[in-house]
Amino acid sequence: MSNRATALERLLKARIEKDGPIGLDVYMAEALMHPEHGYYSRRDPFGLAGDFTTAPEMSQIFGELLGLWLADRWEALGRPRPVCLVELGPGRGTLMADALRAMKVVPDLRAAIDLHLIEASPSLRGKQAAKLKATWHETIDTVPAGFTLLIANEFFDALPIHQFVRGTRGWGERRIGLGDDGGLAFCIGACSPALAHIPESLREAAPGSVVEVSPASLAAMEGIARRLAHHGGAALIVDYGYNEDAVGDSLQAVRRHQRVDVLHRPGDCDITAHVNFASLVRVARAQGIETMGPFPQGAFLEAHGIRLRAAMLAAKASARRRRDIEAAVRRLIAPDMMGELFRVLALSARP
Ligand code: SAH
Repeated sequence: MSNRATALERLLKARIEKDGPIGLDVYMAEALMHPEHGYYSRRDPFGLAGDFTTAPEMSQIFGELLGLWLADRWEALGRPRPVCLVELGPGRGTLMADALRAMKVVPDLRAAIDLHLIEASPSLRGKQAAKLKATWHETIDTVPAGFTLLIANEFFDALPIHQFVRGTRGWGERRIGLGDDGGLAFCIGACSPALAHIPESLREAAPGSVVEVSPASLAAMEGIARRLAHHGGAALIVDYGYNEDAVGDSLQAVRRHQRVDVLHRPGDCDITAHVNFASLVRVARAQGIETMGPFPQGAFLEAHGIRLRAAMLAAKASARRRRDIEAAVRRLIAPDMMGELFRVLALSARP
C-alpha cells in the first residue's frame, strides 16, 4: 500500500510529462498546500501521533512568554487601540490560546484585541476555530489596517524555496523531472527569475555550491514590515535557520518523526527548509523597521523568564507532571535540542 504512488505524485508526473521539469518551489507548494492532496490541507500533523512536535505543543510556557513579549511592546509603543493580533500559520491554535491567556494580565490590551489568523489549510482552520474566536485570511494583505502585534512560529520554514547550483560556467536551478524508472528525480535546468535573489556575497560561490532563496518568504516579510511601518506594531518570528547568508542544501522531509527522502510520497510528508534570517532582516530594515536578534531560542526564553514560570507551574503540579514540565523546558532551551537551532527575530516599528 505505502509503495503505491500518492495521488499528488501521479498529478505531478503527468504535469512533468506534459510541460517538463518543475521548480522546487512548485513542488514544495503543491506537496504542502495542494487544496486537495497537500500535506497541510488534509491533516493535523502535530504531536507524538503525528509527524513532528512544535514548541507550543511541548509547553504552554512558550506561547505565554511570546504573548507577554508582545504585551510589553504594546506598552512601549504607547498602548494604541484597537490592536490587530495576527498569527501566520497557527497550526492547532495552541500558541495563540496560550498567548491570549497570558495577555489577560494586561486587561486593556486584551479588551482591544481583534484576532486575525493567516491559515491556508481548511482542516487546521477547523482546529483553530475550536479554540479561538478570529477572522481567517489567506494572506496578510486582507487583514484590516491598524496597529499590529504579530507572531509566526515555524511558518517561514514551510514557504517554498528555489535551489540554485553553481556550475563551472554559471548557475543552474535544481528542478524535479522524471528518472529512468519513471519516478520523480532531481535534475538541473535553466534558472527562473528567482536567481536575482541570490545574496551579493554568494554570487561567486565555488562550483558545486547550492544556494537557497525563498521569494515567498521575502514577500511575506515585506507584507509584515510594511504593515508595521505604516500602522505601528511589533512581531516575533521564530524558526530554525541561519543568521548569515550561507551556501548549503537544507531541504528536508519528515514523516512520523523520521527524516525521509524529499521526493518520497509527496503530500504525505512535511517538507521544510531552513530560514535565511539575514535575508528577512534586510527586507524588514529596508522598510525602516527595527530588528533585534535573531536570538537563539534558548537564550530568548531564559531572558524572558521560562525557568521562573516553569517553577510556578511545577509548584502546583504532581511529581509526574513536574517531570514533564522539566523535560519540555529542556527541549525548548537545551543547545543540543531546540535552544540554538531555533531562533527568535524580533521586529518593531519605531515609537
Ligand atoms: N505555528 C504552529 C504550526 C506550524 S506548522 C505551531 O508552532 O505549532 C506550519 C503552519 O503554517 C500550518 O498551520 C500550515 O497550515 C501553515 N501554512 C504553511 N504554509 C502556508 C501558507 N503558504 N499560507 C498560509 N498558511 C500556511
